[in-house]
Amino acid sequence: MLNVDKLKKGIVIDHIEEGKGMDIYQELHLNDIEMPVVLMKGIHSEKMGKKDLIKIETDIKLNMDILGLIDPDVTINYVSDGKLVRKEKLQLPEKVTGILKCHNPRCISNYEDVGDIDFYLVNKDKKIYRCEYCDSYTTFH
Ligand SMILES: [Zn+2]
Repeated sequence: MLNVDKLKKGIVIDHIEEGKGMDIYQELHLNDIEMPVVLMKGIHSEKMGKKDLIKIETDIKLNMDILGLIDPDVTINYVSDGKLVRKEKLQLPEKVTGILKCHNPRCISNYEDVGDIDFYLVNKDKKIYRCEYCDSYTTFH
């Protein structure tokens, strides 16, 4: 069971695939938050064997695209007044903006300032995305 009783207000990112908690912590820059953030690794889970979990003791706007790219199977629990008020399931984003970089050296995005690039999901299983400018494929990691 999810242990939220010690959390008065904030966000619990649950069902993180074991080992990905640190990726999420770093990519979402959770270190920059001034309120307490707890990363728990390798917790026992009935469903997953082992899982990671992150508790953030404040309301912040998480970048769902980055979270979805790292681990689309997480559950996000919003806690207020010590109670679970909302659960959100994630999925792999169909389109991501300004997160991925194109690996094609001849792509216009690599020699002109085109601003944030859109990438479109082309393969769900392999998490492959297509550059809006040159159609090259890329992955998050
Ligand atoms: Zn490109």
